[in-house]
Amino acid sequence: MREDVLLLPHCVRCAHVVWAPRPYCPECGSLEVRWEPASGGGAVYSFTVNRRGKGFNRRYEEIGPYVVAYVELDEGPRVLTNIVGCAVDDVRIGQRVRAVIQHSGEDSILRFAPAE
Ligand SMILES: [Zn+2]
Repeated sequence: MREDVLLLPHCVRCAHVVWAPRPYCPECGSLEVRWEPASGGGAVYSFTVNRRGKGFNRRYEEIGPYVVAYVELDEGPRVLTNIVGCAVDDVRIGQRVRAVIQHSGEDSILRFAPAE
């Protein structure tokens, strides 16, 4: 069964969040890295609205305008993602968001929606 939980790699020795994910800690060199649940919270660090589609790629035309953003997780890492669950013009830098894991076939996609 699939679990919708955002996990981040943490160093077991020094607790550093190992981002981008790799099998060792860049802070202390430990090879003990363990994936642990993240809070799922973050804030919009930067974003753009992609309104291009017409005449460019029909697939995107069907999707409509969408937000591409960097979200800074509460644990520190910044992830490239999409903001969903609100109008594209309502997104703001610094806006609090929460993780939303969406599924497309076998893939799980990490996106974010405005926090309530
Ligand atoms: Zn470490």
